[in-house]
Amino acid sequence: MGEPVRSDRAGELRASDAGREVRLAGWVASRRDLGGVVFLVLRDASGEAQVVVDPQAVPAAGEVAKDLRDEYCITVSGTVRPRPDGTVNPGMATGEIEVAAADVRVLSPSDPLPFQIDDRADVDEVRRLQWRYLDLRRPRMKANLIARSRAVSAMRRSMEGQGFLEVETPTLIRSTPEGARDMLVPSRLRAGSFYALPQSPQLFKQLLMIGGVERYYQIARCYRDEDFRSDRQLEFAQLDLEGAFWGRDDVLATLESVMVEVARELRGVELSTPFPRLTYREAMARYGTDKPDVRLGMEICDLGGAFAGTGFKAFAGVLDAGGVVRGINAGPLGMGRSGLDALGDLAKGAGAKGLAWLVVEDDGSLRSPIAKFLGDDEAAAVKEAMGAGPGDTLLLVADTPEIAAPALDRVRRHLGEPDDPDELAFLWVIDFPVFEKAPDGSLAPAHHPFTSPHDVDEMGSDPEHALSHAYDLVLNGSELGSGSVRIHDPEVQRRVFEILGISDEEAESRFGWFLEALRYGTPPHAGFAVGIDRLVSILQGEPNIREVIPFPKTQTGADPLTKAPTPVAADQLAELGLEAAGEDADGVAGGDGAAGEGGGASAG
Ligand code: ASP
Repeated sequence: MGEPVRSDRAGELRASDAGREVRLAGWVASRRDLGGVVFLVLRDASGEAQVVVDPQAVPAAGEVAKDLRDEYCITVSGTVRPRPDGTVNPGMATGEIEVAAADVRVLSPSDPLPFQIDDRADVDEVRRLQWRYLDLRRPRMKANLIARSRAVSAMRRSMEGQGFLEVETPTLIRSTPEGARDMLVPSRLRAGSFYALPQSPQLFKQLLMIGGVERYYQIARCYRDEDFRSDRQLEFAQLDLEGAFWGRDDVLATLESVMVEVARELRGVELSTPFPRLTYREAMARYGTDKPDVRLGMEICDLGGAFAGTGFKAFAGVLDAGGVVRGINAGPLGMGRSGLDALGDLAKGAGAKGLAWLVVEDDGSLRSPIAKFLGDDEAAAVKEAMGAGPGDTLLLVADTPEIAAPALDRVRRHLGEPDDPDELAFLWVIDFPVFEKAPDGSLAPAHHPFTSPHDVDEMGSDPEHALSHAYDLVLNGSELGSGSVRIHDPEVQRRVFEILGISDEEAESRFGWFLEALRYGTPPHAGFAVGIDRLVSILQGEPNIREVIPFPKTQTGADPLTKAPTPVAADQLAELGLEAAGEDADGVAGGDGAAGEGGGASAG
């Protein structure tokens, strides 16, 4: 067992290796028996090479080759030779050569496969995850793992080049509020008490700034117990960073350098910087979302002016009530009634009462179920506002701004297609409001409570309009991450808690340790976190983040491979001072003082 199992990597053999004796090791990617001569494709991590076993020349190897099946793990010794004329495969990196086998050995056989190891096979995702180790043998998954590793190493390179120190923060912590539910870990030594897994290293990175680490970064693993939306995981990785004596523009410039490095590494492109910036208000007005895909065109127009004083009751009522009429010029859609109705259903799915459509005819007149309600001036004003010409379809929503925005965003995303699908449209959205307004009009804090408001007085007196020094990075319509300038003045922090409805007592009991730290000469500081899964999936052109996570959970938070999460034995629970709730138990989980003293509920 002392000698190396192989001399060469299969995918690296070239015509210049012809004549060399090599020993390869890998998996049987395919096996064809052509009248006794066996052709194998041998795959290892570097790629694939063709192996030819001629039983007449090497009877013992022929015997072994006869019984090989897909995905057997084998070694092959033999001689590299040019492929015969007419059999060169230009689609394969090693397509000019083959290895004439002298010896073939099975290192480890394989059971029959649950699915073909082939990018073209369309396999149900749960099956792929149940046999993820086989799924990872597919070229696409291997490419994704490599891309992820290269992205992370480009991040480290960039951060280190910019003078950042990598610091690890703990993952068994008291809860760090980020607005989601914490994942809890019971303590055995202090039964009835719990750690939380970090939703982010937020407060630790702020402590590092107080600790004099002026430039911090970490590839941080974070946990958020959220109800699964299509593209979320319970645990995820982010590039987390923070800088002292910093303002927003330092953060943005630093992140731009990181993105330049990562895009160069994965896509071989040079991004131009600085990235465009939109304020939150501009983004909502022009795209109906705080994560616009600016590649799609079709900006939203406000038609309040065009419909001022309209006789069309439906619109007049909305405008009188303080609502908006907004729309997009979808261009020459050429859609029939049923297509337009389907767009209406999309808008309704986002809460709108409907979607009005108008098609500009060749003579400039408007064809639409609502055309008869519109005066000539109005029709002209709408066309003018939307830059509409013959053939264009105009799609309008009349509602509150909170409903019109997501409805039009949805329609726009559905219809839009980037001219160049490879384009990387990075942009910053800055100046987020302190509070976000739900469709029912209620206000909730938009960020974690350590985010600096523009003006803490305004935050109290005019919450609806108050802005914060918070910003997001957006790529092709997806949010990659967010950050902010932090509060470094303990008095401002106290007032922000108060305005967020966190009383002094509550703040003291939950964050007293942090408020105290702020009182020891805290430098102004700011930071950011970028989701690595999301970034890599977009750069790899993958439709969801699970494709770039080696062992992801399903949409319901399960791992089909290990079957986690599972119940645990009663004695394991007893040791932790817990009892299981559920069909087999009548106790209540964590009933034994589970909340603990000042427990870790989130402040988000
Ligand atoms: N802690 C925030 C997050 O994880 C990012 C930040 O504000 O730095 O989203």
